[in-house]
Amino acid sequence: MSDARIPLPFHEAAPAALEDGQLRRNLAHVTHAIRAKRADATAELPDWEALRQAGKAIKDHTLRNLGTYLRRLETRVEAAGGHVHWARDADEANRIVRRLVAAEGVREVVKVKSMTTDEIDLNGALAEDGVVAIETDLAELIVQLAEEPPSHILVPAIHKNRAEIRRLFLDAFDLTPDQLSDDPAALAGAARRFLRERFLEARVAISGANFAVAETGTTCIVESEGNGRMCTTLPETLITVLGIEKVVPTWRDLEVFLQTLPRSSTAERMNPYTSFWTGVHGGDGPRHFHLVLLDGGRSATLADDVGRATLRCIRCSACLNVCPIYERVGGHAYGSTYPGPIGAILTPQLRGEPRDGELPYASTLCGACYDVCPVAIDIPSILVDLRRRTVDARRAAHPLPAADAVDAALRGAAAAFATPRRYEAAQRLARLGQAPWVRKGVLRNLPGPLAGWSDARDLRAIPRRAFRDWWRDREAARERGGDPA
Ligand code: SF4
Repeated sequence: MSDARIPLPFHEAAPAALEDGQLRRNLAHVTHAIRAKRADATAELPDWEALRQAGKAIKDHTLRNLGTYLRRLETRVEAAGGHVHWARDADEANRIVRRLVAAEGVREVVKVKSMTTDEIDLNGALAEDGVVAIETDLAELIVQLAEEPPSHILVPAIHKNRAEIRRLFLDAFDLTPDQLSDDPAALAGAARRFLRERFLEARVAISGANFAVAETGTTCIVESEGNGRMCTTLPETLITVLGIEKVVPTWRDLEVFLQTLPRSSTAERMNPYTSFWTGVHGGDGPRHFHLVLLDGGRSATLADDVGRATLRCIRCSACLNVCPIYERVGGHAYGSTYPGPIGAILTPQLRGEPRDGELPYASTLCGACYDVCPVAIDIPSILVDLRRRTVDARRAAHPLPAADAVDAALRGAAAAFATPRRYEAAQRLARLGQAPWVRKGVLRNLPGPLAGWSDARDLRAIPRRAFRDWWRDREAARERGGDPA
């Protein structure tokens, strides 16, 4: 992954996001609404849990035999008149797409359903050749006009309200204020008029895909607006960039995900548009079809016993909508294409930059993400494992415990908690030591490295009488036959 557009690490980006009250209101409004609808949509199906386990089993089987199914996909796509390209990483994928676009001699392409192309920053790479990529998904278009990255997998403009979107459209579409209200239908209409012109002029389209069916070489996108269908049918050349984990063996397997994905993501029984394309067909659809299969760190993730389950993800975004951290800081704080709980485990494995080591800490480990995941990814366990790796790496860099403040503090805590006697002694010491920093029963402005804790939290002071002391006195009083209070 070459996404370096947001250089701030999470611990700096998150406090800034928390300061933005409008952002928090927008996020809370949308995540709560989708969350409630998803719960209703999944509760309607008596076999939801069986579908969830079926999705998990299909993905695990496919991942164990990934080479077989990818080769089958390649054979079928080429038999149907398409071309398959293999890309080891973002640079190679971008080089391939740039070459294909340059061969068509165009200066503008239309794009849809393209998280994978966002992951490799394809728009930036095309811009180096003077090619403008127009996002055609409405929410993607909004964040593109705002010159921001998406902040949600499904609702990339979740952080923007109607008034903000109207201001963007007035500027971008050259409209006067009386020509556009902030009514959702008016905003959608303005975007539609702009996009239709682009669709009719475009000779090259670039798409992502939700799935690819190996048995027939068919690629599939599910979407809500119909813009994806425009992209995949109108232009002469279609280039699809697909992460290698998106392949499924058969149509029968796909049937499971076409039930679980819409209900998990938009809380719909069936999504409005499901488009399939298999190679090329004379007189119908694109005349040239290229499928770029991207590794981009997926093979290394596949080789990892714990992390492998991450590749089951079907990008439904349900885990984002229930995550208390995502709800408060939004997607930009994660500094990656994939935010929220899935981003916290996927980004460190795919991208592996030093700043990604703190993403697995962006979680309360409450487990809500695991409960809603339609392919039963045990996100909390993977988060804990990734945290362990971060600690191991830090210990390797600082072999002496005293050289690492966190390590030294945790070792001290482990020693104090090891026996009741030590715990009580530590508690007595802390009770004496806390006095200079206690105000009205709360510890404030702790010194040194402890300041990081008290800056962001109200930490109650250790009480004068500990529960254990109270309990001992109570039992002693009871034995004496006195008042236990
Ligand atoms: S991890 Fe699960 S819940 Fe989250 S986006 Fe992926 S499939 Fe959906």
